Amino acid sequence: MTRPSAGGRIEVICGCMYSGKTEELIRRMRQVMIARQPCRVFTPRLDTRYSAQHVASHAGARLEAIPVSSIKEVLASADDLQVAAIDELHFLEDAPDVILAGCQALADRGLRVIVAGLDQDYRADPFPGMMQLMAVAEQVDKLYAICVRCGAYATRSQRLIDGRPAPADAPTLVVGGLDLYEARCRSCYEPAR
Ligand SMILES: [Zn+2]
Repeated sequence: MTRPSAGGRIEVICGCMYSGKTEELIRRMRQVMIARQPCRVFTPRLDTRYSAQHVASHAGARLEAIPVSSIKEVLASADDLQVAAIDELHFLEDAPDVILAGCQALADRGLRVIVAGLDQDYRADPFPGMMQLMAVAEQVDKLYAICVRCGAYATRSQRLIDGRPAPADAPTLVVGGLDLYEARCRSCYEPAR
């Protein structure tokens, strides 16, 4: 692996819901902290009612994080950093090309940029921002969950509303909704209609 100090790089951690993306981001950042490299974790500001100050994995690991609405805010507070991590990248409000340009700019400045996010939405369509970053990243890790139906590797996030697949015209991102998500494999995934 390229030493981060010798040049910037982009690492993408992607996968479906419950695949352990945040857990992996936290694991990498803990190593960075042990090495005492100047670093910061950013997390999309999802909700104006409160500020999330942490990223937390389903398994319970937590790290302090700075809430941001756009990649511009990350760029503005990355001057002193060697490593910048962004969790749940798919929640950033910017257009995909803006996210791409922002992450490229960080890496071009010499930063190690670690990004975690969903590669597909609940319709199993690629998230454009993640898709573009994967193309230019030095490292891409796709993580898997276990299909709740059959036990195979799951790559898709099934969104259920009252136990039925969410309709295709529902909003792509729902914050604080009561929808339920399940990790499912290709065969068990029920397409949105
Ligand atoms: Zn399955």
